[in-house]
Amino acid sequence: MKITVLGATGSIPVEGSDHLEFGGATSCFLIDTADQAVYLDAGSGIVRTPDIGSRSVSVLLSHPHIDHILGMPFFPYLSEKDRRIDFYACKNGGLTAREQLDSLISVPLWPVTVEGYSSDFRCHDVTGPFDIGNIHVEYIDSVHPGGGTVFKLTENGHSVVYATDYEYDEERIGELISFAKDCDLLFFDAQYTDDEFEARKGFGHSTPAQGMLVMNESGAKSIRFVHHDPRHGDEFLKKMEDVIRSDKARFARKDEVIIL
Ligand SMILES: [Zn+2]
Ligand SMILES: [Zn+2]
Repeated sequence: MKITVLGATGSIPVEGSDHLEFGGATSCFLIDTADQAVYLDAGSGIVRTPDIGSRSVSVLLSHPHIDHILGMPFFPYLSEKDRRIDFYACKNGGLTAREQLDSLISVPLWPVTVEGYSSDFRCHDVTGPFDIGNIHVEYIDSVHPGGGTVFKLTENGHSVVYATDYEYDEERIGELISFAKDCDLLFFDAQYTDDEFEARKGFGHSTPAQGMLVMNESGAKSIRFVHHDPRHGDEFLKKMEDVIRSDKARFARKDEVIIL
């Protein structure tokens, strides 16, 4: 399994000389296997996807907040004739996967719906574990305003857990720790510093220290912090990283490739 960071910023895309190392595109992570290309979220990072050749294309949506679907209208494969794209999401706020997509890709926010593109696009409401080729997909609920989904993808004995837009909660963290048990890689929302977390409880995001606790308790072999605060530039993120002092823990960097 090869994982590429296409976008790790939260909330809104940013650019400029202080966003070169960690990047400023919003949430999108590409999972490549021999025959599958699976995108975790469709933030603005999905627009600059590498060429995935003839592999099957799937998109898994954690939740329909704008930063996670923003790139979908410009996803290159959406315009490729007859390219099959399978789009998966749990119901969110009573909305089906299709309705979540339509909340952005339809009038008045966009001139067309997905039918206006050339691909063979199919929406799936996730209601239980499922398989994408040889990849087994499981999930739990996130802790986030409006709800969200934490996915776990397992292929060939390796697993990655994607816990973005997740607020550390004493009462519910045990569920995530169990879910992430012994995974190879944990993506964890670490948008805030400790002080910011105290000031923004209920906003649905966590800290690096809380991520370290989940990594250590779950036995996850490595962690990448994601959903970088758009107000935190490269130097600020490196300072947050310095506090952690672990060779297994880093903030996800633009175009970083992780092989499991
Ligand atoms: Zn978000
Ligand atoms: Zn969100």
